[in-house]
Amino acid sequence: MGPATNSYEQIEELIANGANGIRLNFSHGSHSERDTQIKWIRDASSKLGKPVAILQDLQGPKIRLGNLQHDVEVNTGDELLLQYQGTHHDNVIPIQYNLVDKVQVGQPLFIFDGKIRTKVLEVFDQTVKVRVEAGGTLMSRKGLNLPDTDFGGDILTDKDMDDIDYGIHQDIDYVALSFVQKAEDISGLREILKTKGSTAKIIAKIETKSAIEDTELERIIKECDGVMAARGDLAVEAGAEVVPIVQRKIIGLARTYGKLSIVATQMMASMVDNPEPTRAEVSDVALAAILGADTVMLSDETANGDYPIEATQAMKKVIKYTQEQMPVTPVFYRDDARGKKDAISAAAVTLAQQLEVSAIIAQTKSGATAASIAAHRPSLPIISVTTVPRVAQQLALLYANKSFLVQDDSEAGLHLAQKLNEDRNYFGEGEHTIVLVSGQQVGVSGGTDTIQVRNLG
Ligand code: PEP
Repeated sequence: MGPATNSYEQIEELIANGANGIRLNFSHGSHSERDTQIKWIRDASSKLGKPVAILQDLQGPKIRLGNLQHDVEVNTGDELLLQYQGTHHDNVIPIQYNLVDKVQVGQPLFIFDGKIRTKVLEVFDQTVKVRVEAGGTLMSRKGLNLPDTDFGGDILTDKDMDDIDYGIHQDIDYVALSFVQKAEDISGLREILKTKGSTAKIIAKIETKSAIEDTELERIIKECDGVMAARGDLAVEAGAEVVPIVQRKIIGLARTYGKLSIVATQMMASMVDNPEPTRAEVSDVALAAILGADTVMLSDETANGDYPIEATQAMKKVIKYTQEQMPVTPVFYRDDARGKKDAISAAAVTLAQQLEVSAIIAQTKSGATAASIAAHRPSLPIISVTTVPRVAQQLALLYANKSFLVQDDSEAGLHLAQKLNEDRNYFGEGEHTIVLVSGQQVGVSGGTDTIQVRNLG
């Protein structure tokens, strides 16, 4: 969400029209604005009876320019002094991060989504001197990219730490870490969240050259709970041509290890200004669904665009049609990749597909059973039933999943399925059968041990 959707009414419309999660981009906005937005999301979600995930997207070392007195035209050959805590005058441009210990002479430094390209000439005091190689217009707070700079495991800034502390005390389901370079960045954040008592899951945003090296990408995906193809910065850091291939690798590895996958940025970018998507955008969303991404994300379209609700509706229409017409492409994963728990889910999915049931119901405490069923990408709805609000919210982003929050009850999954069938004609006309996956000991996390086939009549 962003300025274009910054009201209770807009949030309710987004959720009613298909949004399963809302990203709060902590590169912008104050904590008091966040308080209000989180309340709007939770109020709308409870009014609509639809659990929704809130994702806190940390800025990370997304270095930005400071405030400029006015826009500045720069041309090839110009020299700029990028100064930490500096004030704008002449060719001195303030930046919000001290780069002197990180950046090296000769490294590329891009500004404003890669539009302005510079090379580092000198590093001194709190200043990085660069020469412009491709010019453009500098504006206040535009982002910097340093594709060859190693942040040496130091990707959490003071602002991120402050935002993490804020998030711990809020109703946040996922924390997304920007500019991840290696798996240790994720384990470091996990340690911090654990120490502070957070139950949020971690999303690794893949947007640096170091993260997409083959062995590192796999290590990162094994370490995180979910992974985002952050295509905007990835294209700037590594070149736009790498994006489709990296996106496939990310989704494939996430499916292999049973982790959440999100495809983000410019999915329906033309809808910032137009009420209809382009053919290419429709294909892009459909392809993400065919490859088996759990989630597709709108950014500028809903944050700053003129058609936020139309973009959400258009995206939902494409996903729905694609999933009805075509199964997700198979992924060849190692049998041992998801561990023993996967055996029950694999059996439930095989059973459900052979019997052509109407849905798989997962009665789940920690969410692990639903996630492991989803990892098989059955061409069936997955209905997860849980007593834990945080789990219902986190599962809302999962492939083909609809979460329901219920009271403690050993037959909660069956009762919900019966209710959906009777009250709301949820499964359509005719007789319906479901496969129900649950544990004999109610509420025991990891205790899934029972598969039932139940006729709903
Ligand atoms: C991206 O770069 O694609 C992304 C999702 O991150 P952000 O929107 O924070 O730039």
